[in-house]
Amino acid sequence: MASNLLIVESPSKAKTLKKYLGKDFEILASYGHVRDLIPKTGAVDVDNDFDMKYEIIERNAKHVDTIAKAVKDADTVLLATDPDREGEAIAWHLSEILKGRKALKNKKLQRVVFYEITEGAVKDAVKNPRSISMELVNAQQARRALDYLVGFNLSPLLWKKIRRGLSAGRVQSPALRLIVERELEIEKFQTREYWTIHFDSEKDRLPFTAKLTHFHGEKLDQFTVGSAERNAEITQFLETHGKGNAKVLEIEKKRKLRSPAAPFTTSTLQQEAVRKLGFSTERAMRVAQSLYEGVTVGKVVTGLITYMRTDAVTLSKEAIAEMRGYITKTYGSDYLPKAPNVYRSTSKNAQEAHEAIRPTSIARTPESVAPYLNDEQRKLYEMIWKRAISSQMTPAKFDTVAVDFNVGGPGNTFRATGQTMVFPGFYTVYHEDEDDVAEEEDRRLPTFETGDAVKIQKLYGEQHFTQPPPRYSEASLVKALEQYGIGRPSTYASIISTLQNREYVILDKKRFTPTDVGRVVNKFLTEHFAHWVDYEFTAKMEDELDDISNGKQEWVPVLDRFWKDFSAQVGEKESVQRKDVTQEALDEMCPKCGKHHLTIRLGRRGRFIGCTGYPDCDYTRNLDGPEGAEAVPQKKELGVDTKTHKPIFLMQGPYGPYVQLGEMEGEKKPKRVSIPKNVAQDSVNLEIALKLLALPRDLGPHPESGKKVHAAIGRFGPYVSHDGQFKSIPRDENVFDIGLERAVALLKEPKQFGGRGALKVLGKHPEDGQAVALYSGRYGPYVKHGKVNATLPDEGMINTVTLEEALELLAAKAKKGKGGKKPSKVKKAA
Ligand SMILES: [Zn+2]
Repeated sequence: MASNLLIVESPSKAKTLKKYLGKDFEILASYGHVRDLIPKTGAVDVDNDFDMKYEIIERNAKHVDTIAKAVKDADTVLLATDPDREGEAIAWHLSEILKGRKALKNKKLQRVVFYEITEGAVKDAVKNPRSISMELVNAQQARRALDYLVGFNLSPLLWKKIRRGLSAGRVQSPALRLIVERELEIEKFQTREYWTIHFDSEKDRLPFTAKLTHFHGEKLDQFTVGSAERNAEITQFLETHGKGNAKVLEIEKKRKLRSPAAPFTTSTLQQEAVRKLGFSTERAMRVAQSLYEGVTVGKVVTGLITYMRTDAVTLSKEAIAEMRGYITKTYGSDYLPKAPNVYRSTSKNAQEAHEAIRPTSIARTPESVAPYLNDEQRKLYEMIWKRAISSQMTPAKFDTVAVDFNVGGPGNTFRATGQTMVFPGFYTVYHEDEDDVAEEEDRRLPTFETGDAVKIQKLYGEQHFTQPPPRYSEASLVKALEQYGIGRPSTYASIISTLQNREYVILDKKRFTPTDVGRVVNKFLTEHFAHWVDYEFTAKMEDELDDISNGKQEWVPVLDRFWKDFSAQVGEKESVQRKDVTQEALDEMCPKCGKHHLTIRLGRRGRFIGCTGYPDCDYTRNLDGPEGAEAVPQKKELGVDTKTHKPIFLMQGPYGPYVQLGEMEGEKKPKRVSIPKNVAQDSVNLEIALKLLALPRDLGPHPESGKKVHAAIGRFGPYVSHDGQFKSIPRDENVFDIGLERAVALLKEPKQFGGRGALKVLGKHPEDGQAVALYSGRYGPYVKHGKVNATLPDEGMINTVTLEEALELLAAKAKKGKGGKKPSKVKKAA
C-alpha cells in the first residue's frame, strides 16, 4: 500500500493537520530549523563561490532522524513548511539531508504551502504540490551568508577596538543607528518659546474657543509671538480695541471623509499590537503564529488567521465576498461600499506574499471564538478581525466648520473650528491609532450666521515650548524600518529583540534609549563602516535579495560585489586606534592634575569622564554628575519602606544592579532583588523598588495540583515557579502583571534540556534546579545550563571544572546575550 508523509516545522501545526489529513498522511514536525552554518571561520567559503557549510542543529537532530526513518518507508513526501523564504529554506535543507542519507530513492518529494490552515485550503493545497523554489531558497541562503560575513568579520574588530564579546549585525546596525541618531537629536535640541492667543466665549450655552490667526493683516506662524512681552502687547491691543466683542466674518463648511486602513500586513499588525494591546513585536508574532497554526474551537480544529508574515494588502475574492455579505447582514447596506475597497501595497516585493492577514472566516466573530482562546489570542484575534472587516466598509463622514471672527479692527482674525461625525461608517468597528499624534476629538461648535456678535469672556495668551522629537517606540521603529526598507516582514521583530539582547538599547517607559555601549558601537560603525550602516545601502541590499527571490538576479554575483568592498574595508580598519573609538576628547583640563585633558570613556559600567593622564592621574567623574563623584555610585538610597522603616538601596553587584531592603545585620543578609534587564537602572525609584521587593508574587493555586504558583526574579531573570518547577518569563512580559493563566501555560511548555550526552552533570543550578552539565564539543569542552552554553577558556579545565566555575562562565555568557552564534571564549573564572 502506498504511504504518504507530510513534514512541517511546528508540532502545533502538525497537530491541526492531523485532524484534516490523518487518514491519508503520516505527519511529522522538524521542530524548527534543521541546519545552520557551522559556527566557525570558513562556513561561507568566499573563495569558492560562497559555498556554504552546514551542520544539523543539535537540538533537532533526533527529529531529523525520525523524519529520515519515516521517509524511507514512504512513497510520497510533502514538505509543508511555512509559505515564505525561511519555510522554503527549511524544506530545502530537509531535502538535502534526506538526499545525503540516500532516503529519497524512488520517492516523490514535493512542496506544498498553506496560506491558511483550514480543512478546505489544506486539502486543496495538498492536491496542488510543486517543486522547491530554488530562487526563494537562494534568497534565503544569500541573506544568511551576508549576515554571517558581516557578523564574523565585524565582531572580532569590535572585540579589539571596543570590548570583548560584542557583535554587530547587518540589519541591526542601521536600526541601532536610527535609535542613536534620535537620541543625539534630542540631546542637541534647543527648545524654543512660542505663544498662541485665544478667546473663550459661548453661544446657546455651548462654550467654544477661537485662536488668533491674523494680526494687523499679518498671518501668524508658530514663532510670530515668541515672547511674553509680545504676547502682552497683542492681547492688550485686542482687549482695548475689541472692547470684549467678536463678530462673525465668515463661515466655512466642509464634508470630510475618512477611509478605513488596509487590512493588516506584518508591519501594521506589529505596530497596532504595540499601540493598542501593549504587546512587544515578538509577542505579537508568537500569538499570531498560534492563531495561524490552529486552535480548537468547539469541536473543530482550525487556523483562525491567514499566514502572518506578509507585506501584501490584498484580500482574496472569496474573503471579500464573505465580508460583504457579513457587512450587509450585520451593519446594513449603508456600511457597504458599492464596489469592494481595493488597496495597493507600497512594498516592492509584495508579489512574493499572498494576502493580507485576515480571519480565515469572518463568520468566526471575536465573541464566538473568545471562549476557546487565551487572553492574548483573544485580544489579537479581535483586532485582526475588526481591522479586516473595517477595511471593506464605507468611510466615516464628518462635517467640519471653521468660523472666522474679527476682533478690534480689520486684519485681526480669530478662528474657531468644529467637527461632528455625521456617519460612522467603518468607525463603528475599528480605527487605526497613530504614534505621537493627539487624538482628533469630536468638537461641536454653536451654529453661527455671518455678522453675529458674541461676547468675549476671556482673551489670553498661552505659552508653549517646542518639544524634541520623541524617542522611538516599538511601533514607530517598525514603521521607520519599513519606510527605510530595512528588513522584511519576517525580520522586524528579531531586529528589535537582537538589539535588546545585545544590550545596545533598552526599552524604558516603552521607548528605546541607546545604552553607552550601543552608542560607542554605533559611533565606530558610522565612522568606519559608514557605507554598511547606510540606510539606502541596507535597503538596496534587501532589494537585491528580493531580486534573487524573483529570479531577476543570481545570488553569487550579489555576494561577490558585497564581499569585495566589505572585506577590503575590514582590512583597512585593523589600524584604527582603540582610544579613538572608545574615547571622546573634551575641551576641558583635568581639575586634579591640571596637566592633561579630560575625555569621555567607556568603562565596564558605562561611559564616564576621566583624565587622559591615567594611570598617573586617577581623576574620574560621572557624565552628568558633580565633580569628584565616583564613576558609578555603588549604593544609592531610594527612600524608606513604610512597613519595616528600613531604608531601600539601589546597589551594584557582580551580576548587575539590584535593590536591597535595609543593611547587613550581623551574618543575616538583607532581602535583595535583581533589576530585570528590561527595566532601566535610572528609572528605578522607590515605587519600582517596593514592587521588586514585594516579589515573589503569589499568583494563586495551580488548577491541577492546587499548589501555589509564584512569579519572581532570579539572577537569570524573571521566572514563574510551581511545585519545584521553574520557567523563565519571556523578556517582553512582565513579572509584575503576569497572571495565573499565563503562568500555568508557561509551565506547561516543554523543558529544553535534560542532560543527555553530557560528560558529567556538575550539579543543580541554584536558580531553577536544572542541571548544569559538562560536554565535549567540536570546539572544545563547554558547560551548559538550559539554553546557555559556555566554552571553557582552557581545555585543561575539563578535568577540574567545578559547579561554581561553571556558574561564573554561564553568568558571563548569559549577560552577553544570545546574539552571536560563535563559541565565544569567556574569561577564566576567578
Ligand atoms: Zn588629571
